[in-house]
Amino acid sequence: MSQPETDRARNRVKTGLIAAAFALSAFLLAWAGGALAARLARDNLAEAAGPRRALYVAGLRSELTRHETLPAILALSQTLRRVLHAPDDPAAVAEANLYMERIADRTGAAALYLLDTGGTTLAASNWRRPDSFVGRNFAYRPYFREALAGGSGRFYGIGTTSREPGHYFARALEDGALTLGITVVKVSLAPVERSWAQAADPILVVDANGVVILSSNPDWTFRMLAAPTAAEQVRLADTRQYEGVRLRPLDWRPGPDGTASLAGLPDRYLVTGSAVEGTPWRLYLLSSLDGVDLARDIGRTAGVGLTALLALAWLYWRQRRRTRLAWRRAAAALEGQVAARTAELVAANQDLHRAQDGLVQAAKLAALGQLSAGITHELNQPLAALRTFSDNAATFLERGRLDRVAENLRHIAGLTERMARITGQLRTFARRSDNRPENVPLARAIDNALTLLVEKTRRTGAVMVIDLPEGLPAGGQVRCDPLRLEQVLVNLLGNALDAVAGAPVRRVRVTAGPAAAAGRLRLDIADSGPGIAPADMPRLFEPFFTTKAPGLGLGLGLVISAGIIRDHDGSLSAANGPDGGAVFSVELPVGEQA
Ligand code: ADP
Repeated sequence: MSQPETDRARNRVKTGLIAAAFALSAFLLAWAGGALAARLARDNLAEAAGPRRALYVAGLRSELTRHETLPAILALSQTLRRVLHAPDDPAAVAEANLYMERIADRTGAAALYLLDTGGTTLAASNWRRPDSFVGRNFAYRPYFREALAGGSGRFYGIGTTSREPGHYFARALEDGALTLGITVVKVSLAPVERSWAQAADPILVVDANGVVILSSNPDWTFRMLAAPTAAEQVRLADTRQYEGVRLRPLDWRPGPDGTASLAGLPDRYLVTGSAVEGTPWRLYLLSSLDGVDLARDIGRTAGVGLTALLALAWLYWRQRRRTRLAWRRAAAALEGQVAARTAELVAANQDLHRAQDGLVQAAKLAALGQLSAGITHELNQPLAALRTFSDNAATFLERGRLDRVAENLRHIAGLTERMARITGQLRTFARRSDNRPENVPLARAIDNALTLLVEKTRRTGAVMVIDLPEGLPAGGQVRCDPLRLEQVLVNLLGNALDAVAGAPVRRVRVTAGPAAAAGRLRLDIADSGPGIAPADMPRLFEPFFTTKAPGLGLGLGLVISAGIIRDHDGSLSAANGPDGGAVFSVELPVGEQA
């Protein structure tokens, strides 16, 4: 494996380990979060259950204590004593019956009754009812035995006659040391039970035998928390406490930590209990663990969420570090590239400078060559004419025609003067200041220029058409230095002749007229040449722009001409004519009136 490959493999293992660590931490945090939240919720639930249980116990207690003292009060009654003294006296019995009936009505007790010491009922509040206690024997009831033995007794059970569950309080009716009978009050706890039916959480009251004697759910009443042992069964049968009721075990499954679930109920419950004071009972409150389960779920989710957050933070941190590394690497690479490119550029620049120097040198030489070629070209025509005139002079001298000799010599003198002026023009290109504007007739300037171009015109075989209209302003005079104007015209006409040289039609036409702008004359030199290529048009007046072969063109003619015309407040412009040839137009101020 190559180095980067091992690095990548190592990175993959590292990432895998970290992912595994996050998975493990998600699991642990979920577990811990769930356990913690559940624990807190459970503690809350248990704490809240305390006061509620106390409330239920208090309700139950008040119902009991309300009647607890009744037997003792009854024991004071002379009416009842009379019955005990004369149990067979129907009047005394009737009076006792009515008396107890009245008290039961007032107090809400389920039943009041009087037993003789043998446990037989002598009188009862329910004497009118078909299931009246009168005449029944309750000697087997623990409350009777307790009261007979110790003065008072209490008992919870199902009425053997009425079949209604109730709490019994009994009291001995004594005459000195002698017990005459027992007064009993039976209290129904049905109203308490009914009030519990609305409670949100199930409530159970369990007696000393482990039998559910009261419950918010009627289904659970007279069920046992645990199945009774054989001995318990015998004792229960003895007291006839739950006579006529089949004591089935309560269908519940105890869970860990005091939790339980009950058959027929979807929830699991936290079971908390407290003793009911003054009784051997315990009251159990079943608080739904729904909230605890929810809290556990939330705690687990929070644990997972926390891990996810940590993972995100880690990913962010890693990404940031990677990005930073990548940036640093990229920056270093970029710096290297910039340095390399800079070095290349420096080298290239040096090359360029060298090349440029060479070019400048070459251009200078070329310009020099062109300049000298141009000067030669300009002087060639007068030189040729000079030669012709001197040849003529020699010939006429031989023939003794001195008049013609003198004429030719005058021409020669004129030509030499012109040549001096041409070379002088080169000077003026460098330093054009000594203009001497005068009124120059256009016709004369054109004539002079054409004279200089006689030879060239002939060689080219071109037709010169001079078409100056009559009645031009100022008699066709313009305001200009005459030699300069001739120089311009020689240049423009010479260019025109060059242009038509290879053309099928070789014609140069010179026309004049008033310019568009007032106070100016316009001179057009149009040729039948190929015209000016559009690409060349903008460069026409650039120094050294020429399309001619080296030695034939200097590329200065138009620049110099334009400069001269501009110096005289005029303008020089180029265009292509309707027939394709070039048209050069000179505009100059008209001559001044004398
Ligand atoms: P040169 O004549 O030495 O080339 P000029 O400045 O007089 O320099 O002319 C510049 C160029 O303008 C010429 O090379 C030619 O390309 C173009 N030019 C001037 N006159 C004409 C014309 N009459 N027809 C076509 N092209 C022309």
